[in-house]
Amino acid sequence: MASWHEAREISRGVWSIAEPSHVNMWLIEGRDRAVLLDTGLGIARVRPVVEELTTKPVSVVNTHYHFDHVGGNHEFDDTAIHEAGAALLVEPVPREVLDRYLAYALELVRAAEHVREADGRYFHLLDADSLPRPLPDGFDPAAWTIAPPAPSRTLTEGDVVDLGGRALRVLHTPGHSGDSICLLDDASGILFGGDTINTGPIYAQFHDSDVATFAKSAARLAELKDEVTMVAVNHFGRTTAAPYLLQEISDGFDRVLSGSTPFRQAHDCIGERVTEAVFDRFSILLAPAVAQRLHHT
Ligand SMILES: [Zn+2]
Ligand SMILES: [Zn+2]
Repeated sequence: MASWHEAREISRGVWSIAEPSHVNMWLIEGRDRAVLLDTGLGIARVRPVVEELTTKPVSVVNTHYHFDHVGGNHEFDDTAIHEAGAALLVEPVPREVLDRYLAYALELVRAAEHVREADGRYFHLLDADSLPRPLPDGFDPAAWTIAPPAPSRTLTEGDVVDLGGRALRVLHTPGHSGDSICLLDDASGILFGGDTINTGPIYAQFHDSDVATFAKSAARLAELKDEVTMVAVNHFGRTTAAPYLLQEISDGFDRVLSGSTPFRQAHDCIGERVTEAVFDRFSILLAPAVAQRLHHT
């Protein structure tokens, strides 16, 4: 039976560790140490996967405090998050949210069964990084909790995480959540986009999201597109994207803010009603009340 994680070296010293179609974590190795960017859902232990890939000491950096990015934090001693997320990180996650997410995980596996044959014959989009897997043997849904310890360090805009011969620059990019960060590996030009950049729905609908702030962060990232060689993506079926996506997403937010793009009704992964603006390679999800306000101004 396949394990829960799929690891792949996508560039020298940079691995994606996917929970296929859920969360992609990133392991980035320098000369002296390594960073694990996010720890996923905590459905299976991630540390053994990391230890097969690197022998360097590993610190965790979280892109933000949301439960799907911090589930394995407790497996590591050294964890860091943006200062705005430190208190939020240790707040309990409502049981209902976890149960709804598990229902979504089962739905994903069933949905993949429906499209698998057609994909294999016609489209060839699903692969080991994207084909969702059944919950692992021995996983007890009722016992699943997300309980990250308090971070050992906090990060702020402009901090540099030095791995020895490789430096990761912290870009504070609020919008999805107030504490969202991206990391830029100046040496390779890889931008780690967190939940700010996605190739599927971009979540701007949460109570702690702010669409105008999100648009500013997206515009800031678009300005970097000439120095970025690749975008490392945290969710859905694709693990990487080309830098032109940064400009497209920034343009998408501008169109959402100006009310010049059609909206439709949809649901997010835990079944909440949202309003969606659909673009060629991604969509933007908004709280229905926010969307209504945008279309009336
Ligand atoms: Zn998130
Ligand atoms: Zn997420």
